[in-house]
This record gives sequence, structure tokens and C-alpha cells, in this order.
Amino acid sequence: MANAFEQVNEYVQIGADLIDLSDELRDVIRTSHREISVQVPVRRDDGSLLMVRGYRVQHNGARGPYKGGIRYHPSADLDEVRALASLMTWKTALLDIPFGGAKGGIAVDPLGMSRRELETMTRHFTDRICHLLGPYRDIPAPDVNTDAQTMAWMMDAYSAREGYTPAAVTGKPLDIGGAPGREAATGRGAVYVLAAACEHWGLDLGKQRVAIQGFGNVGSWMAMELAARDVKVVAVSDVNGGIHNAGGLDIEAVLSVVRAGGSVVDAAHADMISNDELLRLDCDVLVPAALGDVLTGDNADEVRASMVVEAANHPTTPEADKVLADRGVRVIPDVLANGGGVTGSYFEWSQNIQQFRWKESRFNEELHAKMIEAFNAVVTFAEAHDVSLRTAAFALAIERVARAETLRGYA
Ligand code: NAD
Repeated sequence: MANAFEQVNEYVQIGADLIDLSDELRDVIRTSHREISVQVPVRRDDGSLLMVRGYRVQHNGARGPYKGGIRYHPSADLDEVRALASLMTWKTALLDIPFGGAKGGIAVDPLGMSRRELETMTRHFTDRICHLLGPYRDIPAPDVNTDAQTMAWMMDAYSAREGYTPAAVTGKPLDIGGAPGREAATGRGAVYVLAAACEHWGLDLGKQRVAIQGFGNVGSWMAMELAARDVKVVAVSDVNGGIHNAGGLDIEAVLSVVRAGGSVVDAAHADMISNDELLRLDCDVLVPAALGDVLTGDNADEVRASMVVEAANHPTTPEADKVLADRGVRVIPDVLANGGGVTGSYFEWSQNIQQFRWKESRFNEELHAKMIEAFNAVVTFAEAHDVSLRTAAFALAIERVARAETLRGYA
């Protein structure tokens, strides 16, 4: 299988072909602007030294400061971080927000680490990439296994050098410049897009049976937003496995188990299923909301949902994408479906710079408007050119980045 960055570049190439992009501009966008790999030392609670590797990749900054999350995961490596950084370039352009694309990661399993170890690791990582960060340079946010607390430590480490700078990171706790609505924005934004898609294709959202892989920030907020609209969430999962109830899960009950530190598999009134089974479940909408590369050439022909909403980043390999397209499964691509997160980050960053706070109702209204605008642009382009939503999304985003590159005179 091609690595994650090669896979994203396959999608980039298809989009670039559609708009007949020049070879020069292709050279600019298929590699990253800057990549840094750093040692991150962590003194463990038992006195031993753990040396892990951290990465920050800035893919393209033609449209604004680099922007992208930080993930802590054993599989994080340069290729994965490059792929995710490139996706951020296309996502920010597609949502038409004034950022470029970046991503960061530390190759580590944080699940067994103490709070003190996580704080030390986060501060050391920030110190080592600090010279590349800043509210007008590069602005991190949470991603897999990082959260508002991680962002608070990053903001503090940055501010210790540069002075109090809440706009240096997004996804912060509310007490230090976080925006009400940001934590829910990725999951909520994905539901706004799903609702718009159902309306566009003449489907009743209330009748869709949804299966969600991953019950972290994105998956759990999606489940809550769907439950609030009386949409049946028939399955959810996390790293320990999944649960299924054809009549619809009690999402509040699952949440209370997870909030108390448990796993979804500890929730009552459901059958156990594996993460693999969840992908092949009898449902209408399948939402990968965990890791990448879960829909592959090996399992795409077994997907029974008629729609896939890519809440996770690059959950579908190009091979699987072709199989799903041939089978008529509609795929709402990651750069659109999970764009609510970075859009919410943009709102938070703007508020920090203006030292002003919106009410959550305004945040959600603006988020809704942005998601619908992007969905409409993608659908209109896809229908005009008779291409998939993914190809349309990439083509539109590449066009915008190429125009900015050309205007700024880089290429
Ligand atoms: P998270 O760490 O909060 O949650 C991840 C979830 O996935 C957890 O429930 C975890 O148990 C589960 N998981 C981990 N490994 C798994 C495995 N092998 N099989 C099944 N489940 C597994 O992360 P998140 O922030 O919710 O991010 C989820 C996805 O959404 C990622 O692909 C991320 O890049 C993408 N995303 C996140 C944001 C954001 O704002 N947090 C924005 C855009 C995209």
C-alpha cells in the first residue's frame, strides 16, 4: 500500500489534472514547504529517560499562517504528518479561511503516561519547535490523543518565551482564550454537512442509521449532535472495540461511561462488535472518526452503508475510493466533512486577536454558514464536471491555493 502522503498526492494529482494545473505549480504543492523532526526527551516518573521523536510539517502557507493539529500516536511518522499537513492546506482553502496547512505529531503511545509525563513531553516538544510557531506563523490545535489541556501547556510554553499569546494555539480551555463551541465544532460541522447532503440528495436525515468508528472528540460530538436531532446512532467504537444496537444506542448513557474514564464497550444494552465489523455493518451512513487507512481495497466492497462521511483524516485509500465510487457509495471527503474543526479554530484565533468573545450561538451560526457554503461549492463543482465530491473538493482547493501562490509571486 502507498504511504499516507503518496495517497494524498494521488488525490491532489486527480484534482490538479481536472483544473489543468501547470507543472510548476504542481511542483510547489506536491511537497511540503518545511519539515522539522526533533528529539523529545521525557523523564519518566520511575526516573528513566524516554526519548521520543516529534514532527512538525508546514505544507503550504500561500493563503495564511500554517495551521494544523498535533497528534500523539505510535504510528505518527514523517509521511503521515506530511499527508495530514497537505490535507490541511486543501481543507483551509476549501473552507475559505485565511490559513495554510500544517500538522505535527509525536511518535509515542500516550495512553500509559502520567499527567506529569505528558506535560513534560508537551513542553519539551513546544520548546523545540517554538521558533517556527506564532499567531502569524503556525498555529497548532488538538488532534488524536491531544486535547484542550495539551493546548494550554503549549500556549504556556510559547508564552513563556514570547509573552502572553493565546492566539498561538487553538482548541484551548475556555478560561485561557478558548472559544465556546470549538470543542464540538468538528463533530457538529460534520453533522451540518451530512444534513445538507441528505437534503440535497432527497434523503430524510431522521431515517438514517449511523455507525461511527471512534468515540473521541469528533465521534462523540457527532453522536451527540445526531442524537439531539433524533437520528439513530446504531454503533460506536473506540480502540477497545465497538457496540451495536439496531434500535439505536442511548448516546447519553455511552457518554457517561466514557466521561467516567471507561470504554464504549462497558456501556449496557448493546451487542459487542469489532472495529472491523463496524465498518461492514448494516447501516445507512458510515462515519470513520478514528484513524486513517481504515477503508482499503480489502474491505471497501463489504461496506453496506450508502454514504460514508469522512470525519477522520484520510480514512479511505485511493483503491477503496474507486471501489466505493464503482458501487455507488457516496463519500463526503475528509477535507469537507471534518473542516468544522479548523473553521472553529479560525473563529477562536480571530477572537483571541481581537480580545473578544462570541456567544456559542454565534459561533454555531457562523460555523453552519461556512460548512454549507463549502458543501454547496463542492456539490456544484462536482455536478458541473461530473466528478466525485472528493475530486471536486481537491480541484476547488488547489485552484485557490494556486491563485494565491501566483499572486504572491512564489511560483
Ligand atoms: P481523539 O483522540 O479524541 O479520539 C480518537 C478515537 O479513536 C478514540 O475514541 C480512540 O479510542 C479511537 N481509536 C484509536 N485507535 C483506534 C483504532 N485502532 N480503532 C478504532 N478506534 C480507535 O481524536 P479526535 O480528535 O476525535 O480525532 C479523530 C479523527 O478526526 C482523526 O483522524 C483526526 O485527525 C480527525 N480530526 C480531528 C479534528 C479535531 O478537531 N479534533 C479535526 C479534524 C479532523
